[in-house]
Amino acid sequence: MMSLYEAAYLQMPGETILEEAMEFAEGHLTKYTMADGGDDQYDDLLSKRIAHMLKRPLRKGVEKHEQLFFIWAYEQEKGHNQTLLKLAKLSWNHLQHMYQQELRSLTKWWIDLDFVTKLPFARDRLIEIYFWAVGAMWEPKFTFSRYIVTKLTMLVSVIDDMYDVHGTIDELELFTSAIERWDTSMKNLPDYMRTCYDAIIDVLDEVDAITTKEGRPYCLEYAKEAHKNQVRAYLAEARWFAQGKVPTVEEYRRVGVYSCAYPSLACSALCGMGEKAPKEAFDWLFSEPKILVAISDHCRIMDDIVSHEVYCI
Ligand SMILES: [Mg+2]
Repeated sequence: MMSLYEAAYLQMPGETILEEAMEFAEGHLTKYTMADGGDDQYDDLLSKRIAHMLKRPLRKGVEKHEQLFFIWAYEQEKGHNQTLLKLAKLSWNHLQHMYQQELRSLTKWWIDLDFVTKLPFARDRLIEIYFWAVGAMWEPKFTFSRYIVTKLTMLVSVIDDMYDVHGTIDELELFTSAIERWDTSMKNLPDYMRTCYDAIIDVLDEVDAITTKEGRPYCLEYAKEAHKNQVRAYLAEARWFAQGKVPTVEEYRRVGVYSCAYPSLACSALCGMGEKAPKEAFDWLFSEPKILVAISDHCRIMDDIVSHEVYCI
């Protein structure tokens, strides 16, 4: 029943058999978790596993984080294999140590930038964003990708706050054209924008140095292009807001594909993935594949539902 429930998450729209299967499995499993724990036919550990699964099915969980629960559950099972359990714990602790080292280095970068003083309006989200990167790519070999995704997402998040709350339209037009031109000699940016602009150029210089050494000199151009798309979308939304314009659903979705930041984040991730991400991978990403548009739509709408609830009560 548990497997059926998990498998039903792979359904596509219109697959009514799987929709019914999910409902059927969920009903039975919920009944099991609500059953009297004192009854011998009900297993407490199984109830906990079912309750965990109903709250967070595998398809919606962060793989590495979910492992902790499964290690715990396996340990509770009678007759478990001690060696296997030891290996699982070793692997988990080893990876955790690696993530801590990465986070230490990223924290130093973030503290040295001193955005907390220089751009106090911006949200301080390093841990959250690093966790997001681990969720997307947990494998040890993707350290560089996690670095790049965390750094650029931090900066994109600050830029988002600039466009949403802090900047005036004139300033935002200026910032957008600075990114469009990618010209480090631009002098007329307000100080707080300059700080952010320099930081993004520095990170992309770092990306360029490493990817060029790897024989992937094309990464920089894609990364620049991704950030241009990003600020263009932010500017479109800021203009709507300034003009009090309510966009049509189509306009909103069109801009939302980029303003949700998934395309630029996916590009950052590819930059850090070495030979796993050749030029063709970037070309595919920039061709607006359906999966990218779909997840971006999903992200934009979920994000706006939540912000609407937070800001409009
Ligand atoms: Mg925004």
